[in-house]
Amino acid sequence: MMFTKTIALLAACSIASLAGAFQSTPATTPPTPPVTTAKPADADPPVRKTRNVILCVADGLRWQDVFTGADETLFNEVAGKIKNDKYVRDTYWRSTPEERRETLMPFFWSVVAKNGIVYGDRTHNAPGRVTNDYAVSYPGYAELFCGFPEPVIKENKRIYNPNVTVFEWLNNMKELNGRVVAFTTWDLFPWILNVERSKLPVDDGIKPCKFGRITPRIEFINRLRAETPRRWGGSHFDSMTFHVMTEWVEVNRPRVMFFGLGETDEWAHETDYEKYLDAARRTDQYWKELWDLIQKDPQYKDQTTIIFTCDHGRGDNTKSPDDWSNHGAKHPGSDQWWVAVMGPDTPPAGLISDHQMVTQSQVAATIAWALGQDWCKQEPRAGKPLEGAIVEPK
Ligand SMILES: [Zn+2]
Repeated sequence: MMFTKTIALLAACSIASLAGAFQSTPATTPPTPPVTTAKPADADPPVRKTRNVILCVADGLRWQDVFTGADETLFNEVAGKIKNDKYVRDTYWRSTPEERRETLMPFFWSVVAKNGIVYGDRTHNAPGRVTNDYAVSYPGYAELFCGFPEPVIKENKRIYNPNVTVFEWLNNMKELNGRVVAFTTWDLFPWILNVERSKLPVDDGIKPCKFGRITPRIEFINRLRAETPRRWGGSHFDSMTFHVMTEWVEVNRPRVMFFGLGETDEWAHETDYEKYLDAARRTDQYWKELWDLIQKDPQYKDQTTIIFTCDHGRGDNTKSPDDWSNHGAKHPGSDQWWVAVMGPDTPPAGLISDHQMVTQSQVAATIAWALGQDWCKQEPRAGKPLEGAIVEPK
């Protein structure tokens, strides 16, 4: 689909931040403005239906698989560690890219792409990229959460993020304080979200989840986490986080959430294309279940914007057959990136074609902008909200 409309939010970063944008009904008394922003006397607050925002990330999930489905050139032992391709062929191979992608990610293509907006399809001249030079996870998540590449963050090291993330900033607003949370599968996220300073509740998927209201189901999964041997050093299986997250959301009612899954990246690093594809399909299923939960809950239904994306691309298997298993500055293609947005303030523009480059640095401002808040004013280094993702009603 060609995207040609000029959208008002191009000017987003020049529009002043507005307090009180979270009110679902007109406030009779003005809310206390957040300490970090001020409302100009002559500006109207941006009109939003969104009251909640969720950022969903599938670590290292390639745009190639998202937009064209399973890649037949990896159905072999050298490139994808597949000895017998019957299972992947039966399960994921179809004759057209459209059929293949819908087979791999049915929720994404039947719901997100129909009701939201999808950027990053390089086969339709709509590229996306990360702006950090490293194309590994910590620099990518720092860019997603803060809106700019941080030069001191070059690798996946346990150093506290020196910059305030959009999540920390939102959590410091009166309307959202205590309503911002992160569910992840990786033990570096407490560092990326700087829990020491931010005090954000961050579940790393490994240690037991102990914040907020804990139910017997969460306690049971906490036990499974501890008793199930981990395959990877710093992360656990996606299921260990997903099932805690859905239960926690139902009983604790967050307004802003980061939901990060990691198996796509872990299996890719093992050059195991079959398990990578299974992880991608499971991720899509988890996103669907989260969406179903949202749409049956009055607090969330038609009031929640969800952003779907990845933290980096991967090496180019058309140049070196198994380089898709790697990523980083030495693996060309790792900067290639995609993103999708769906919510009550997002037009059903679908798959975007012939569009200028979109960047990972635009996500933080898009999260805030969905809630009527101007992250670019707070953090001038941040990229602007994604063009056309959040629009004012006509
Ligand atoms: Zn990785």
